[in-house]
Amino acid sequence: MIQLYSPLHFFGTYYRMIQQNFIDMEKMLELLQEEETVKDSPDATQMVVKQGEVTFENVTFSYDVRQTALKGISFTVPAGKTVALVGPSGSGKSTILRLLFRFYDPSSGSISIDGQDIRSVTQESLRKNIGVVPQDTVLFNDTIMYNIRYGNIHATDDEIIQAAKAAQIHDSIMQFPDQYETKVGERGLRLSGGEKQRLAIARTIVKNPPVILLDEATSALDTTTERHIQEALNTMTKDRTTLVIAHRLSTIVNADLILVIKDGKVVESGSHEELIRQGTESGQGVYFEMWEKQLDDTPSADSSTLALEAD
Ligand code: ATP
Repeated sequence: MIQLYSPLHFFGTYYRMIQQNFIDMEKMLELLQEEETVKDSPDATQMVVKQGEVTFENVTFSYDVRQTALKGISFTVPAGKTVALVGPSGSGKSTILRLLFRFYDPSSGSISIDGQDIRSVTQESLRKNIGVVPQDTVLFNDTIMYNIRYGNIHATDDEIIQAAKAAQIHDSIMQFPDQYETKVGERGLRLSGGEKQRLAIARTIVKNPPVILLDEATSALDTTTERHIQEALNTMTKDRTTLVIAHRLSTIVNADLILVIKDGKVVESGSHEELIRQGTESGQGVYFEMWEKQLDDTPSADSSTLALEAD
């Protein structure tokens, strides 16, 4: 079976081709056929993920010869932990996620999961182990049930409902005209940004992958929606290795590791406390300055829901 994935911000070209957020399956297939840039090696094996440790080793990558997007990136995300990627726009955060999903191969260096180089395994087996939650979820013009089941076509109705509950979207679905059979998309019910994101979370919970790539939404949400989404994210990422392009302070502060990306390099890494302590002691630091700037910019806001503006 061909595995399909939501076009997302970090999928770049796909995303630009599908600016609207609803799509039919046929169109998606056409796009995926056009966009294949890496091929399985003839002796590719099946990826087997037992722990989910992700390692980037000296990864360099260029989209074109004029500019290097990633310049020798190295880091390890231990199994089940969360790493937050922060840094200015264009610094390379999305590129890191795209490479892990193997939309492109590094020009040098290697990426591995549980010690298996992702170039040595089939793309299908790699992508089966990775869940993707984009900023802007693409929904199919079909029912809610179908849209969640897309994460795992073998899921039972009960599993889908359990996932929707864990993603904090079940109660909203029960208010829709035909509940789980309600059609969504351009020819059906229009969902809010927060509802679409929770649907994407439910889809990922149904898929049950050991590794998750998350491009956190930047859009402002009301406090209740924000809390629901944070709870849904916590459930989804618990015990799963997560790489998140983080905008919410609540996510960043609680991440096991923060990587500050600038000009295609990791310029700082550590926990929130470590980076703030280093910044306070030295009076400088990219993360420390981003943090200070943000607190200055929004003195009266609730710091747990602020967007971390990096540039
Ligand atoms: P943002 O926070 O704005 O999403 P980012 O940190 O995710 O930015 P990337 O999207 O990874 O940054 O981009 C890193 C660099 O690669 C930038 O200079 C960008 O212009 C370039 N780039 C990104 N996608 C492509 C592409 N498809 N083709 C050519 N260059 C690209």
